[in-house]
Amino acid sequence: MGKLLFLVLAIVVVWAVLKSYRKSRPPGAPRNAAASEDMVRCTHCGVHLPRSESHMKDEKFFCSDEHLRLHR
Ligand SMILES: [Zn+2]
Repeated sequence: MGKLLFLVLAIVVVWAVLKSYRKSRPPGAPRNAAASEDMVRCTHCGVHLPRSESHMKDEKFFCSDEHLRLHR
């Protein structure tokens, strides 16, 4: 019974921390910048990612150096 109580308490604490973390963050400042950025598609695996985080080679975009290598 003590274990269950502890589990419930832990969930409540995690939930409270997450809630306060979201509130303390300015309303999506870095998120909006990423969202408004051009999204590109990895030629190898098809995952979408911001252009600034992509790796470009021969007019093709890749999500990582590894996929760039694998595609050759
Ligand atoms: Zn990829």
